[in-house]
Amino acid sequence: MIPFLQLTPGEDGPAVRSAIDRVTERGWFVLGPELEAFETEFARATAAPRAVGVGTGTDAIAIALRCLGIGPGDEVITAPLSAAYSALAIMMVGARPVFADIDGKRLTMDPAAAAAAVTARTAAILPVHLYGQSADMPAIMEIATRHNLAVVEDCCQAHLATCGGRSVGSFGAAAAYSFYPTKNLGALGDGGALTLKDDDLAARAKRLRNGGQTDRYHHAEFGVNSRLDEMQAAILRARLEYLPAWTDRRRALARTYRSALAGVSCLWVPPELDPGHVYHLFPVLSERRDAVRAALQAAGIESLIHYPVPIPRQPALAAEQPQQCEVADRVCGQVFSLPLYPSMPGDAVERVTRSLQMA
Ligand SMILES: *Cc1c(COP(=O)(O)O)cnc(C)c1O
Repeated sequence: MIPFLQLTPGEDGPAVRSAIDRVTERGWFVLGPELEAFETEFARATAAPRAVGVGTGTDAIAIALRCLGIGPGDEVITAPLSAAYSALAIMMVGARPVFADIDGKRLTMDPAAAAAAVTARTAAILPVHLYGQSADMPAIMEIATRHNLAVVEDCCQAHLATCGGRSVGSFGAAAAYSFYPTKNLGALGDGGALTLKDDDLAARAKRLRNGGQTDRYHHAEFGVNSRLDEMQAAILRARLEYLPAWTDRRRALARTYRSALAGVSCLWVPPELDPGHVYHLFPVLSERRDAVRAALQAAGIESLIHYPVPIPRQPALAAEQPQQCEVADRVCGQVFSLPLYPSMPGDAVERVTRSLQMA
């Protein structure tokens, strides 16, 4: 069997266990010293001035939008190919998601489609750095500047990724990260963080995640209850130390896949358009997706589809007016992801590619 990923702690096991023990013995479980230390360390790792830990990546997006004053009546341009949570977070703040189709090579928001989607109501752009590769941020920032729009980067799949040598999350006013267990930096449960450039916005994000409280039991504004707890913060601090090495390992596995898959005719491998790619996933496209995945499964190799349905085609978004996304429609019909995780042995990549050559 080659699993799609490996979630149980490996080389980080002792560090994770000692983090759990430390928090248990301290007896301080919410909004304490681990969270504060993690926020400092995570901000440094992502080259952001400030980080604020929250309950999930979805909440990180929603709180970032709220901090920037985005809400009912506003439109936010985002990508149709992503985890649906990107768009659900926009809807959580009462704004309307507007989908700009993806670029067929990069598989992230097409800047020309984003420019064409701007209306008088557009307040922000939410690009998604999908699969670990950045969206085309210079082009997206140019549109945002021209129309005076806020930019919130969805970095939930792109911890430590760069775009043109510059850290993702450093382009817009705010960025959102998820620490869902499968992400490149994962907790043993749910977790998220937003990073912000502005100190006042960071202070507001800290209020909003804690019910809008200014002082204990004094709620100055409507907030949510979404805090990164001490146990997860301590575990993430331990794992953050491993993240650069794990990222290198993901890149090495991706290089092996790329050279081995170069001659496999049933597949199209999306090109690496930026060396700052962190390979959260390794997606490939095939017109014979079902048959190829069945061949892998018969060989004991797991694969998953990211994502089978463009977000605007989800029934949950039926109330939004239908929006065109032809490229995303095609990609969703062909894309699937091959196993890739830091502890994956190199010979497993060879076994996967051999099975694909015969599929
Ligand atoms: C995982 C993910 C989210 C949501 O994060 P949660 O922590 O699960 O709420 C949002 N956007 C993208 C691109 C993701 O991959």
